[in-house]
Amino acid sequence: MAERVGTGDGAFAPSTESTQKSPRPLYRLWTPGELGRVLAHPEMTAAELAAMLPGRTAKAVRRIRERHGRRAAGSTPACRCCDARPVWEESPRARRMGLCKGCYLDEMERRSAEDARAGALRKRMHDARAREARAKRGKGEA
Ligand SMILES: [Zn+2]
Repeated sequence: MAERVGTGDGAFAPSTESTQKSPRPLYRLWTPGELGRVLAHPEMTAAELAAMLPGRTAKAVRRIRERHGRRAAGSTPACRCCDARPVWEESPRARRMGLCKGCYLDEMERRSAEDARAGALRKRMHDARAREARAKRGKGEA
């Protein structure tokens, strides 16, 4: 039986000089410093970051963001309401809601004002029903 080893062709052909040649410039690896700058500025556009990073295009910044995310992993996420300030990590409730301190306090003030309005409405409706019942009873007795 003929052995078929070491022929070096087909799908396993080794890459040659010609397969390495490409009209596009070679991919330049991102340095930790470059990547750090992109991750440190989630609020900046790709074009703004490209202007800060010599030799990088906005397209390259967008591509690296697709791969690594817009902000560093494990960093404090941005508020889901204003998307500008970090989530208030010290407050478990604010953290659960994903809000910064300002947005959380605004939200809580709005909620308590709404609760007060709902309570006042409930009381008005209850009083109106009580008056109606009294009036009905008064008629029945008369
Ligand atoms: Zn906010």
